[in-house]
Amino acid sequence: MPKWKKQKEILTARLQEVDKRIHEVEDQLEEPHSKDFEDFAKETEDTEVLEGLGLAGQREIAAINAALGRIEDGSYGICAKCGDDISAARLEAVPYAALCRNCA
Ligand SMILES: [Zn+2]
Repeated sequence: MPKWKKQKEILTARLQEVDKRIHEVEDQLEEPHSKDFEDFAKETEDTEVLEGLGLAGQREIAAINAALGRIEDGSYGICAKCGDDISAARLEAVPYAALCRNCA
């Protein structure tokens, strides 16, 4: 059994979840765009919140994809900064962690 089979499953499931959430945010962002710009500007506050969510989701997707790449190339679970093993507890809490607790 590959070493990180379970982590890979967790990451893949998480990736799908975040991807779905981003699409929901995008759908909501697209709705008010039929109005002219002034009306749209009044909604900017809401839009910024939604865009913030979308951005956070996209960052998470990038982090998850990077973690999946590290599983493939064998560097998963090793701190990118100091080279120590990242603790199992930390990987469980943050499955896409690239740094150990000391370096994060
Ligand atoms: Zn470290």
